Parts: sequence; structure tokens; C-alpha cells
Amino acid sequence: MYEQLLRSKGLKSTPQRLMALKAIQEGGHIDIDQLHDSFNRLGMKIPLATLYRILGELSSVGILHTVTLSGQKTRYEIAKGDHPHFLCEQCGQLEDLHVAMDEIATIAQNACVHSTRSVSVMLHGICQNCSSIPDKTRESEG
Ligand SMILES: [Zn+2]
Ligand SMILES: [Zn+2]
Repeated sequence: MYEQLLRSKGLKSTPQRLMALKAIQEGGHIDIDQLHDSFNRLGMKIPLATLYRILGELSSVGILHTVTLSGQKTRYEIAKGDHPHFLCEQCGQLEDLHVAMDEIATIAQNACVHSTRSVSVMLHGICQNCSSIPDKTRESEG
């Protein structure tokens, strides 16, 4: 599936690129360290610098989407159109919210003369997992 996508974007489908895409798809939203760990777990040694380069290439052709978080590492996800995110302030988990964004873009468009290219919405709070843990001293995973 990703072989074709890579080729349609003019990129060769290398094992490293395919592995990166697979790991990101499975992880949902992962940062470069988590991605590096996935490579290590599978015995694929890859220098961080190479991984940065791959992520840069995949992002620049639009296969990957980056989510910028203040004070945290950039997360990468498979691009699938604008969607809002929920960030858990406790465990750092990033979740997709299935809410239509078109309306926000339209409202913004009508409110100003700027032309909107993309919409990025981030909601902050405590996820269900974290709010169900009564003991705050317990270590959270990830
Ligand atoms: Zn959480
Ligand atoms: Zn997302």
C-alpha cells in the first residue's frame, strides 16, 4: 500500500521508509524517539540523523503530517486531512477527534480576509485513562 504511495510521490520505497510509515500508522502519533525505538526493537539499526531525514522527506511530500506541541517533541502521523487533537496533559497521549473542521475554516474565512490553508485545533485536558487512576503517584506508561 505504502510502496505505491511513495512511488506516486516520486520517492523510492526503501525498507526504512516503509518501516517508518508502518510504525507511525501503528502508533498513531509518535515522536522521533518512539520511532527510533520501534526500529531498534525490530533489530533495524538506523542513525537518528537518517530518521530525521526520512521524516523530513515524507512530510515534505505530504505523506506525513507533523503535530507541533509546545514544550514537547514534534509528533508525526500519517496525513489524513485536517482534524482536531486532544492532548492529555498527564500522559502526553495525543488522540484524534472526529469533528468536522470545515465549519471552523468557513467561520475564520468569513471573519477575516485571510485565506485559510489549513486548520489546527488542539484541545488540552486529562484523558479517560488518566482520570480513572485515583493514585496520582502511580507511574503512567509511555
Ligand atoms: Zn492521559
Ligand atoms: Zn491526528
